[in-house]
Amino acid sequence: MTTLFDLSGRTALVTGSARGIGFALAEGLATAGASVILNGTRADTVAEATDRLESKGFKAQGRAFDVTDEAAVADAFAQWDKDGVQVDIVINNAGIQFRKPLVELELADWQRVIDTNLTSAFIVAREAARRMIARGTGGKVINIGSLTSESARATVGAYTAAKGGIKMLTRAMSAEWASSNIQANAIGPGYILTDMNQALVDNAAFDAWVKSSNPSQRWGKPDELVGTAVYLSSQASSYVNGQIIYVDGGWLAVL
Ligand code: NDP
Repeated sequence: MTTLFDLSGRTALVTGSARGIGFALAEGLATAGASVILNGTRADTVAEATDRLESKGFKAQGRAFDVTDEAAVADAFAQWDKDGVQVDIVINNAGIQFRKPLVELELADWQRVIDTNLTSAFIVAREAARRMIARGTGGKVINIGSLTSESARATVGAYTAAKGGIKMLTRAMSAEWASSNIQANAIGPGYILTDMNQALVDNAAFDAWVKSSNPSQRWGKPDELVGTAVYLSSQASSYVNGQIIYVDGGWLAVL
């Protein structure tokens, strides 16, 4: 690890990191030297994930809260203030999927998907950025987008609207925070093998479509997002702001 990518002495909060992409990113940042804070909705799975990292010798702590709950997010940051924990890096990764055609979609389901995938990134990053700006230390915000930040697919309209919003929220954060030495960027993963996609993996027709329409001809693995996350968390990206980097095996590059 060169100094450029070294995260020693930095503390990273990764939302939705009890499993899946978030856990892989937390482990990747810890491997690069960061102290990581794991999160999810369930205290037991957050504690298990934290134990897994600590047993490997990494610096990790866990805090369960719902990222859509403004008061719970504020409480978490207030507790870290009391404990002397300064969050230098935020990865807004928590997300959900919900599949239904737009004409059948209930407003409550639309709202839940928008709140979890988009509004939460604003709530969490706002708390972090207020502190980064007050400290004058700068920081990093990484929002997790999707292929649907760029392109639509049927039956995931709310998710597509939220992830498209993530791309523009990232730019809005850059517009306001870059002058405080905060770099806000996004990662757009392609189809990655996690719990979120298990039903799609098990669907032979969908699995075949993923493999035939992607030039890499395979699903991605959560670990394959780590390099980009470490880069965007580190000094190496000190003049990179407002970008979304797609890690998709080349999917968006082809027709
Ligand atoms: P998973 O379903 O495997 O994991 C989602 C994580 O988010 C879980 O840890 C879950 O916590 C947490 N979470 C969900 N809702 C909340 C909430 N309200 N508050 C706190 N934590 C919450 O998803 P993935 O790892 O596949 O996806 C992670 C991110 O990557 C998402 O933003 C997703 O949209 C995005 N993405 C995923 C792709 C893929 O192919 N997998 C492709 C493109 C983007 P709990 O365990 O408590 O439920």
